[in-house]
Amino acid sequence: MSGLLGRRLKNDLAEREEKSLYRRRRVIESATGVHARIDGGDVLAFCSNDYLGLASDPRLVEAQCNAARKYGAGSGAAHLVTGHQRIHHELEERLADFTGRERALLFSTGYMANLGIASALLERGDRVFEDRLNHASLIDAGLISGAKFSRYAHNDASALETKLASRESGAALVMTDGVYSMDGDVAPLDALASACRKHEAWLAVDDAHGIGVLGENGRGTLEHFGLGQEDVPVLMGTLGKAFGSFGAFVAGSEALIETLINRARTYIYTTALPAAAAGASLAALAIIASEPERRAHLRKLVVCFREGARDLGLALADSVTPIQPIVVGDAASAMRLSDALLARGILVTAIRPPTVPEGTARLRVTLSAAHSEEDVDRLLESLSDALEKIGSETDGRN
Ligand code: PMP
Repeated sequence: MSGLLGRRLKNDLAEREEKSLYRRRRVIESATGVHARIDGGDVLAFCSNDYLGLASDPRLVEAQCNAARKYGAGSGAAHLVTGHQRIHHELEERLADFTGRERALLFSTGYMANLGIASALLERGDRVFEDRLNHASLIDAGLISGAKFSRYAHNDASALETKLASRESGAALVMTDGVYSMDGDVAPLDALASACRKHEAWLAVDDAHGIGVLGENGRGTLEHFGLGQEDVPVLMGTLGKAFGSFGAFVAGSEALIETLINRARTYIYTTALPAAAAGASLAALAIIASEPERRAHLRKLVVCFREGARDLGLALADSVTPIQPIVVGDAASAMRLSDALLARGILVTAIRPPTVPEGTARLRVTLSAAHSEEDVDRLLESLSDALEKIGSETDGRN
């Protein structure tokens, strides 16, 4: 590799390797699910976002195939050209009903939805405020919006309020995760919404990890708090996690959705997602509404895991959601623990900086309704075993 860029790439990769920060993919040879086949071996996986175990549900697969047969494999164009098919429109209407909002709009990914929200709503001279631990897509959205960007301390509504109060002019948008993707804790949306109301700011919630999981009817973190469109004008949900499918949506007022259709560049200038994904999402919506036992089982698994982890002396984050990270500390120790679990047939990927702050590398354990209580017991036994073996090298114990 020659030239400045060639040398830069080589040095950067070598540095990542040396600091245990090099990222590698694993090839999964089986259908999405808690039982996976990788590198020729069978593993029990605790790291996907398929919280309700729907990604390989035969009803979703069937709906996906049927939609592809009827509408084709690809949409062929952007929504504003000829890509907006009847099934996309039907899904938008159902998502608006599900979230109790005037309208919903499909985006191809959650990442693009977040970029679209911030860039369509904000102008130069406006302000965007974000929680310090927000997902990368929200941070990027704030940074490219052209508005002045600032962060507030994690989950600190009064810190946000102080910042909102000190702004002089321009519109303000506050963006937060509903459930933090790497920590599993729930944002204090009631307090954030009231701070926003007081200071005439809009609150936008990215509920990628709450929708389908939290709330009595699986309507997410807003249902958990009993908040509506007036409190949280912008709701973003993803369809690739609890919905087991692919894509994302934004739900809110008529004016919000028409603005996004007219102004959001990540909506306008991209191909509409395949009808097949919309078909699978429609099937998932029906299951989320009709099978609350999936959420009840998941809640039970969370309690089992937390009790067992406490008995092992593991320091767990304060999370009631299926995201149950074990913070280890440095990246090398997190990799060692992940490797030791893999040697025991358990897959939990290590999450390292910059995805999480320096010194907080972790095993992001996630639970799924597809796990059994015996699976959770096996995870706990393997954790105990692996930690025993690694012994003093690991900081994950109290
Ligand atoms: N927001 C959050 C909080 C996420 O965790 C993710 C995905 N990891 C996204 C947005 C992006 O969603 P998508 O995968 O649909 O792009």
